[in-house]
Amino acid sequence: MAIEVVTTRVGLRERVASWRAAGETVALVPTMGFLHDGHMSLVDIVKDKADRVVASLFVNPTQFSPSEDLATYPRDQEGDLAKFAAHGVDAVYIPDVSEMYPTGFATSVAVSGFGEGLCAETRPIFFQGVATVVSKLLIQCWPDYAIFGEKDYQQLCVIRRMALDLDIPTQILAGPTVREADGLAMSSRNAYLTPEERRVAPVLNRELLKAAANPTRPAIAAAGAAILDAGFRSIDYVELRDAESLQPVTAPVSRPARLLAAAWLGKARLIDNVAVAPAT
Ligand code: AMP
Repeated sequence: MAIEVVTTRVGLRERVASWRAAGETVALVPTMGFLHDGHMSLVDIVKDKADRVVASLFVNPTQFSPSEDLATYPRDQEGDLAKFAAHGVDAVYIPDVSEMYPTGFATSVAVSGFGEGLCAETRPIFFQGVATVVSKLLIQCWPDYAIFGEKDYQQLCVIRRMALDLDIPTQILAGPTVREADGLAMSSRNAYLTPEERRVAPVLNRELLKAAANPTRPAIAAAGAAILDAGFRSIDYVELRDAESLQPVTAPVSRPARLLAAAWLGKARLIDNVAVAPAT
């Protein structure tokens, strides 16, 4: 049976209301499509939690700056629908831009603190775009659960804070980063890598893991140098942050921390992060 596609917020609300009337719980998996196993792992996690799963496919224009890749962002709607169907998604929400941002749209959601520094340094409008579209998706669907990947760790923190601050009662879940066999975090943007860049790409994760064992300032600097040496063209940041507050910390850490990085390889800006355990 073809998977159900909903394109309007009214249609989405009706579908969710019919499930609720039957006493069923609902989970939402927001995506921008061009799906890979990382996205599908989020579907699999919530399938175990909720009776019904809605996935969304929406390449959100408000999180792209004019110099970024909105026009060329990879898309494959047919392939995505087949993958969602194979993983048991009940309905896919595919609004067009005018459904999300009708003429006169004038509101945006900005999360201070979590939405500053790290990726926000070089992508100043990104988290405002993400927080705005995710709050709209949550309000439109009103799910019991929504899930986001740890691969986009700062985004996960922004969304958790936003849901808390806006009294959105959805439980925000996190899924671990799914990686290729050589450690590269799966990402739709990995499609931008040439074969040679693809061979270099796992260095980002390898160096983060090496530094995370003892993330002193010199070890973090050495990771940055090794990433550049391997062929990355520039580094936006390699930073140690508290895993919960995202505040900068220095080793040895007494609470769980995260070593996060963003670096450019050819046309692709790759991000990754790894857990840093407190010193015993
Ligand atoms: P995107 O389509 O890139 O906006 O991602 C949609 C969701 O999938 C976000 O919650 C991402 O954090 C998550 N995601 C992307 N890549 C991965 C991955 N490799 N492992 C786990 N989750 C991921």
